[in-house]
Amino acid sequence: MAIERTFSMIKPDATRRNLTGAITKMLEDAGLRVVASRRVWMSRRDAEGFYAVHKERPFFDELCEFMSSGPTVVQVLEGDNAIAKNREVMGATNPANADEGTIRKVHALSIGENSVHGSDAPETAAQEIRYWFSDTEIVG
Ligand code: ADP
Ligand code: MG
Repeated sequence: MAIERTFSMIKPDATRRNLTGAITKMLEDAGLRVVASRRVWMSRRDAEGFYAVHKERPFFDELCEFMSSGPTVVQVLEGDNAIAKNREVMGATNPANADEGTIRKVHALSIGENSVHGSDAPETAAQEIRYWFSDTEIVG
């Protein structure tokens, strides 16, 4: 299997509850390596740019409001099949549908305040990593 990189965020509902370490441990226990990490309080404009793909969705305003409501931890994760592996350890978008033991099952509050973000494909991973990190900040 190929070594990949993916983009992850620990969302404001989780940083607010002091879960940065607990969530990072779940990622690391799944075999993912944190090769870049930064805590940011993103602006509304940052959130709108990052989630531009969702701008026609009914939850777009709520999502951008939430994502700029407190600190987020932006990360690059590396490992075998990292994109799919991260999505697996995150669990389904709605925690009510997430598998036992996944981050969203254990920690998420709702479909909106669902604790983590993870890229869904190689193209979005590359684009999302580039949105938050320069090459020199990623140290594998
Ligand atoms: P995922 O984060 O699992 O890739 P999406 O890309 O579909 O899910 O949605 C992006 C984010 O938008 C979700 O993680 C969640 O925070 C928010 N969201 C998705 N659907 C809803 C909804 N029905 N109501 C409120 N927020 C939502
Ligand atoms: Mg998504």
